[in-house]
Amino acid sequence: MSLFETTSIQCPACDTVTDFQAAGSVNADRRPDLREAILDNTFQNVICPSCNEALRLEPVVNYLDVELGLWLAAYPPRQIGDYLTLENEVQALFDESYGTASSASAQDVGAALVPRLTFGWPAMREKLFLRQQGLDDVVIEMLKLDLLRRLPEAPLRAGVELRVTDVTDAALRFVWIETASEDILQAFECNKALLVEITDNQDAWAEVRRGLTQGLFVDMQKMYLGAGRNAA
Ligand SMILES: [Zn+2]
Repeated sequence: MSLFETTSIQCPACDTVTDFQAAGSVNADRRPDLREAILDNTFQNVICPSCNEALRLEPVVNYLDVELGLWLAAYPPRQIGDYLTLENEVQALFDESYGTASSASAQDVGAALVPRLTFGWPAMREKLFLRQQGLDDVVIEMLKLDLLRRLPEAPLRAGVELRVTDVTDAALRFVWIETASEDILQAFECNKALLVEITDNQDAWAEVRRGLTQGLFVDMQKMYLGAGRNAA
């Protein structure tokens, strides 16, 4: 089932408070139109009825996609600093829904699901897109860390992220994007050979993989957000 809740939003342009329908959960197998809306960045876009300002509701949504094998909990960008606490909560929610604490039939479904935690729409859209393209999101995060070393002009700062937006036969298309506003700061293409190099060299990346996959927030930002999970 896909669930929507009425939520009151104050327009940042004209201060009018309006009720909108915010998605609490999305079942993409029953509502493939919602999967498509997430992929084409129209999901939860609304218009202020008072001044016609285009707004986007923040994600606070659980996403289930058995067809693509993805279960995802998406939170607003401003909560990224709480990722360790949220990883624990979201893992518990997954365990109750489709994991070790769920019924045998739910666990059958869960066995084919990759659980993830994301912050903001660009990250959610990317996880879904990569899954659809058959690309391993862990290797993509490794590639991003590799690219940071090669890109001296990278606009790396809090609130700005590197996301894959498209893929061709030869290349991956990346953007540096401001998470909250979704403003694109830079775009570039990366030859797929770099991805193959990492995929073929997993031993050298084993420690990075361990760091990225410790918890459901699989994102290179966790490598530099605070002390991480192993802090004393
Ligand atoms: Zn307005």
